[in-house]
Amino acid sequence: MSPQSSGPFASVCVYCGSSTGTKPEFLNAAVALGASLAARSIRLVYGGGSVGLMGAVSTSAHARGGSVLGVIPTALEPVEVSGGSVGEVMVVRDMHERKAAMASAADAFVAMPGGFGTLEELLEMITWQQLGYHKKPVGVLNVGGYFDPLLEFFDRSVECGFIRKEARAIVVVGATPDELLEKLEKYVAPTSLIESLAKEKKERGSENVLEHDDGGLLGGEKRSEEES
Ligand code: AMP
Repeated sequence: MSPQSSGPFASVCVYCGSSTGTKPEFLNAAVALGASLAARSIRLVYGGGSVGLMGAVSTSAHARGGSVLGVIPTALEPVEVSGGSVGEVMVVRDMHERKAAMASAADAFVAMPGGFGTLEELLEMITWQQLGYHKKPVGVLNVGGYFDPLLEFFDRSVECGFIRKEARAIVVVGATPDELLEKLEKYVAPTSLIESLAKEKKERGSENVLEHDDGGLLGGEKRSEEES
């Protein structure tokens, strides 16, 4: 491990479908990821519940002696909805609290195949890193090429000038759990948008590229003062 790289991890947050998908390879990959995390003594942080791929990854890690933390909002907590959970369970008020708790409990993020919920969680971690809110690695487990169209879309966004090349590099891709975890451990976060703009301002000696180190772009107190 180089001094700047991310790993080894104590915990990894897995985002994945609340469904199992139509192909057995999705379920098999979830079981394999749970096994890899347990074998590496990496704690699994996930959305709680036993439904879909979430259930497969958590039961696999737990059955192999791995540590598991499920973070579930009260609305999804009933067994009829979530199907119950293995390991430690943290019950939170809502989805916002859940995402924040999952993000702060993990050293890295992995998205497995899933639907809107999974994509939203994945993209949020990418955008937070793009801005410079965190430097934790973010990867996709590209089971059977499931994420290929999304990755192609990211490339198209780069071509069209909406995603910076450095930001595109935030997304780490692996075809198997071990390949992905090894890549994530070597990952070094790129210069964030905030760092880039600050550097640009310094180089140009301009006063109007970035008003503040972060508050000018990210809202917060200064912005509400201006609006009021
Ligand atoms: P999706 O990728 O659309 O299946 O959504 C996955 C996200 O929705 C994850 O954050 C899950 O935790 C959450 N989710 C959806 N349905 C349930 C459920 N029945 N129990 C627990 N979490 C769920």
